[in-house]
Amino acid sequence: MTHAKSDQLFAEALKYIPGGVNSPVRAFRAVGGQPFFVNKAKGSRVWDVDGNEYIDYVLTWGPAILGHAHPKIIAAVKAAAEDGTSFGIPNPREVTLARMICKLVPSVQKVRMTSSGTEACMSVIRLARGFTRRDKIVKFDGCYHGHVDSLLVKAGSGALTFGHPDSAGVPAAFTQHTLVLPYNDIDAVKAAFGANKDQIAGVIVEPVPGNAGLYLPKPGYLESLRGVTRANGALLIFDEVMTGFRLARGGAQERFGITPDLSCFGKVIGGGLPVGALGGRAEIMDYLAPGGPVYQAGTLSGNPVAMAAGIAALEELSGRACESADGKVPPSHERSQDSYARLEQLGSLLEAGMRDAARSAGVPVQFNRCGSMFCAYFTGDPVHNLADAMKSDRDRFKKYFHGMLNEGIYLAPSQFEAGFISTAHSEADIEKTVKAAARVMRTL
Ligand SMILES: *Cc1c(COP(=O)(O)O)cnc(C)c1O
Repeated sequence: MTHAKSDQLFAEALKYIPGGVNSPVRAFRAVGGQPFFVNKAKGSRVWDVDGNEYIDYVLTWGPAILGHAHPKIIAAVKAAAEDGTSFGIPNPREVTLARMICKLVPSVQKVRMTSSGTEACMSVIRLARGFTRRDKIVKFDGCYHGHVDSLLVKAGSGALTFGHPDSAGVPAAFTQHTLVLPYNDIDAVKAAFGANKDQIAGVIVEPVPGNAGLYLPKPGYLESLRGVTRANGALLIFDEVMTGFRLARGGAQERFGITPDLSCFGKVIGGGLPVGALGGRAEIMDYLAPGGPVYQAGTLSGNPVAMAAGIAALEELSGRACESADGKVPPSHERSQDSYARLEQLGSLLEAGMRDAARSAGVPVQFNRCGSMFCAYFTGDPVHNLADAMKSDRDRFKKYFHGMLNEGIYLAPSQFEAGFISTAHSEADIEKTVKAAARVMRTL
């Protein structure tokens, strides 16, 4: 596998772009080596500028749940672009996508679009504080809510990968109202509420944290978070930027049967274009400007081309059910070609194969999976939180990553990122991946 053209482009990129990339994890620093440059992606595959082909489990960090360049999304984007790429005036597609989100996610009565997940999280925190007239926010270590100043404390994703979970340039005063607790430990949450009576505006959580690898909520944990927040007059905020429309049509909240007060979305709802959103109970959402006192805005928010991509993605994912005449969405089991059943099927195939590969190679691996999200931690102990995740052998991960890349399998270039499966992945793709993993693991 040659990377001559990628290497040349990266040398050029380093001259003009800090670190050569526009988002830090892309730079491969956690695994060594240099990133490759991609100029084409289709279905489960990406092709780099040197002509190498990879089965992609990063999927543009989650959005490409239908695979890359899905024909319906491409057609929708082209059609929308022909009519103008931005108006800054209300457009009908904003209403369509908002209605779809409200129908698919039962806790969401109203929704405001942004251009990124970061913006959605930034705004949701402001809204929670404005609505409750309280300042403090609880977050969990290893959870990532975009690069929002007040939430960039013990954050996951790139912040964690590079060992700067607390970023330079964030004044201590900006995070003094942020309480950081360990995930999956409800006693810590109860203690925080006890010590900060009537001061906590809300608890923001990735219901299934996917920015420090991937770990699942312990049975009852999310229910307890719901109970404790409600009992204390605080808002429960689900950051579903990664899990929304991925773990189920209604996100992790549908999968686990929890009703948060507010939610953030991004990734999948943009169909590969820059979209974020915050939504929730109408009574809270109406606190946003122009009707309410909490300011929030965006030049490109609700952009028609981005809305078209999001609408096409959600229509395809839910079998157009959300646009049905009676306005009702039939439950998953009543429809034949269910995307989520398919993703679950592929996920369990990958899980079984990867566990087998690790076992036969004698390499201790914790393969965590929830639907079409997964992470292979190189450790012998179960991973339920950030502290557990940090015990994994990162040198082993590096070798595994490069071994898989050489086999034409692209995984996220960090131990602390989740992998994703799309509906465009085939059984043959999974089989190829598992076989490659078996070979690579024997060399670790
Ligand atoms: C990706 C992500 C974000 C940030 O979204 P951007 O679009 O990258 O700004 C926020 N929260 C979670 C849970 C994410 O996975």
